[in-house]
Amino acid sequence: MQQNRRNFLKTSGIAFGTILGSSFPVNIFSKGISNTMKSSKIQLRFHPYTLKLKHVFTIATSSRTTTPVMLTEVEYDGIIGYGEASMPPYLGESQETAAAFLSKVNLAQFENPFELEKILSYVDSIDLKNQAAKASVDIALHDLVGKMINQPWYNIWGFDKSVAPVTSFTIGIDTPEVVRQKVKEADEYKILKVKLGRETDKEMIETIRSVTDKPITVDVNQGWKDKNFALEMAHWLKERNILFLEQPMPKENIDDNAWLTEHSPLPTIGDEAVQRLPDVLKAKGVYSGINIKLMKSTGMREAYKMMLLARSFGMKVMLGCMTETSCAISAAAQLSPMVDWADLDGALLIGNDIFSGTKIIDGRVTLSTEPGIGVVKI
Ligand code: MG
Repeated sequence: MQQNRRNFLKTSGIAFGTILGSSFPVNIFSKGISNTMKSSKIQLRFHPYTLKLKHVFTIATSSRTTTPVMLTEVEYDGIIGYGEASMPPYLGESQETAAAFLSKVNLAQFENPFELEKILSYVDSIDLKNQAAKASVDIALHDLVGKMINQPWYNIWGFDKSVAPVTSFTIGIDTPEVVRQKVKEADEYKILKVKLGRETDKEMIETIRSVTDKPITVDVNQGWKDKNFALEMAHWLKERNILFLEQPMPKENIDDNAWLTEHSPLPTIGDEAVQRLPDVLKAKGVYSGINIKLMKSTGMREAYKMMLLARSFGMKVMLGCMTETSCAISAAAQLSPMVDWADLDGALLIGNDIFSGTKIIDGRVTLSTEPGIGVVKI
């Protein structure tokens, strides 16, 4: 019986995917997989791409109209997985550093793409930092593996996609007139996100409140320098239907952030302070929750571990993004049924997306049923 099954798997590529897709029996068929694909090598390809933003994007520290990304593909046994590294300049990576890093990645040494822990540990060990470049390999491998067993990752992880949250939509810092216009254009979204951390913080909130009473989340991007001022602002914002404060003060001011979290009437979320798994432990007691982004965490595998660890500490979890195509957004969205808040508007802010996948429908994160990270190239 076993021999017959193996022979069948070896000779029937189409039926192979169909059978595995129906009930996801990876362990049952694992011998069949390794026998079938032993001669294959994992190949990695990458090429730079520049995202064009629909609006000038301004945060407390910078403004820009484009975002450089690196698109990746891993191919194994004729199946292609897609990945992406998004690299806003202030984070320190670039297409040049990503290309230099990815040139060193030799995936051909691995014969079994399912060994994600081993492969991604190797990728992580090649060099320090390069989180986005590492994420581009992680995402592509997850896409590949999901496609090999014909399942999306929310199924593999065991999440109910119908409980995926609404996403916030970011309103950038601008003149009152432009802000009012952007808020009107964002009618579909149930939660607005506002970048604060400037002299005009109260004016910004009042401008939005003059046109809508929707819940707002605020991201200070470390812009408040004094804890008493931050607490005053927290009370002021609490009166105006604000949900939480993202990275209120500089990440280095651990005691001040912890003090604010203790006294604030609004939850605090660590973003710049929380990059990878060990940072979740450091954030415990300092923030009420964490903002997980694939471009910080080195990808889906570590993001999943961060989510579980934060949950075990009773912390809130937010899922964020950079400006990204639907590739990286759809990868992050696989985790979204398990988070408190999603901020996955990155692909909505660009005018030249080349993937279709997770969509935002009526403001809600709506996962595609396609396997892997759920994207198709358009
Ligand atoms: Mg943030």
